[in-house]
Amino acid sequence: MTNHTEWKALSKSLTFRHQAYINGRFQPAISGETFPCINPATEQLLVDVASCDEADVNLAVESALQAYRSGVWSELEPKQRKRILLKLADLVEQHKDEFALLDTLDMGKSISEMTAIDIPDSIDCIRWTAECIDKIYGEIAPTGNDTLALISHEPVGVVAAITPWNYPLMMATWKLAPALAAGNSVILKPSEKSPLSALRLAELASEAGIPDGVFNVLPGFGHTAGKALGLHHDVNVLAFTGSTRVAGMLMEYAGQSNLKRVWLEAGGKSPNLIFEDCEDVKKAAATAAAAIFSNQGEVCIACSRIYVQKSIKEAFIAALVEAAKSYQPGDPLDPATNMGPMVDEAQLDTVARFIRSAQDEGGQVLLGGLPEYIEGKGFYAKPTIVAEAHNGMTFVQEEIFGPVLAVCEFETEEEAIALANDSKYGLGASVWTANLSRAHRVSRKIHSGMIWVNTWGEGDSTVPFGGVKASGNGRDKSLHAMEKYTELKNVWIRL
Ligand code: NAD
Repeated sequence: MTNHTEWKALSKSLTFRHQAYINGRFQPAISGETFPCINPATEQLLVDVASCDEADVNLAVESALQAYRSGVWSELEPKQRKRILLKLADLVEQHKDEFALLDTLDMGKSISEMTAIDIPDSIDCIRWTAECIDKIYGEIAPTGNDTLALISHEPVGVVAAITPWNYPLMMATWKLAPALAAGNSVILKPSEKSPLSALRLAELASEAGIPDGVFNVLPGFGHTAGKALGLHHDVNVLAFTGSTRVAGMLMEYAGQSNLKRVWLEAGGKSPNLIFEDCEDVKKAAATAAAAIFSNQGEVCIACSRIYVQKSIKEAFIAALVEAAKSYQPGDPLDPATNMGPMVDEAQLDTVARFIRSAQDEGGQVLLGGLPEYIEGKGFYAKPTIVAEAHNGMTFVQEEIFGPVLAVCEFETEEEAIALANDSKYGLGASVWTANLSRAHRVSRKIHSGMIWVNTWGEGDSTVPFGGVKASGNGRDKSLHAMEKYTELKNVWIRL
């Protein structure tokens, strides 16, 4: 196991790719503009990165479209595409320490989370999806004896993937693996807060054998590069993970341009229901703490709203506060650290604003509170628990995207379901009960894409990921992800 000193030494030896990757080569933004990439743990500059805008988008889309039309990837035998994507997975694995460091330095996530979650998940996503390529069949429709109707899955063309900063490599692979597997050309616009791992991935994609123009990466801002992708007439699919606000803008761009398909993985405010018949209060409390404090709460499926049954409230809260104390913000390069800094100062300010609002609205801070700087540097927030919360409070309704947990109470199952569903979001939910009937009953009634019973956050390449309501549409992962990146085509033959 690599230790703190070794990670620090490795981080010093890293070199950063910092230019756009278009048509198989790195190049500066056409405007020559750059933006700074800052390490949120030290507030030091990592590197200045090319700031792409509409001109770069036009160039990348042209090269992606040409590659698509040439058939160099879109018409490649499925088993060849599989071989190349498997090679890409192997290359990411060979460079796993480098990828772990890139995201940790870029956005502050702890190195232990990178090595335990993001890296293995990203590799598995590419590998699993690659393995699917030559196992998906078309159909023959039961039309009758005089005709033959063939139904096939065709690539869609040019896919633009716009991704967030909270799981930079992982969110990128969830989009690009199925999009590439289906034979499309892809343009990835990573978040301006964490572009470094995507740029390295592009280079490895070429090394694996993905033809020039098939996978391009455009670092840049949302209102420039992102918007230009959204409005481009030759982009056929927008695959997005990010905030609900920007998700809505992408739908507008599609309407204003070519009705491109828009797949959205957006925000969340997931509830965690703790019933008095839950088997192990301590386990429920420890998982509840992990569900909001891991990755500093910068997790779309974070269970930021707890509803605990009144009869066990006191015991549960005591166990929760105890469990939460094990989350201590610290240097993300230390493998013992389980909470790094927030991604930037703006995100830290958001956390502080919501803690103040919770206090103003009558919440009782049981742990944590307003952020303080550790040794004067880094955007560190404290794990914060606010009790006496209820659905009428702003911080219980709005996504904070930080380590702030609201604890509310309920008395009956019906009330718990109603409170859980009283949210514009519908991404995940956790339910704690030893009663099997209740587990099923409550799971059926909660409006969200994913429910975890007596657990939280479990996922696998075989299982779809995504939400309902303002949390989005479509699903990443599993064979269902392929539906986003393929068109159904039919061919009628009169016999
Ligand atoms: P964000 O919406 O600010 O940015 C996401 C991406 O959109 C970035 O690449 C950004 O540059 C781009 N963007 C911003 N404005 C744009 C515009 N006008 N046009 C086109 N692109 C634009 O989100 P964020 O702060 O990076 O990420 C946090 C959000 O992501 C949270 O709401 C979180 O819940 C959500 N998220 C959801 C999931 C999920 O699977 N549902 C997973 C991770 C994160």
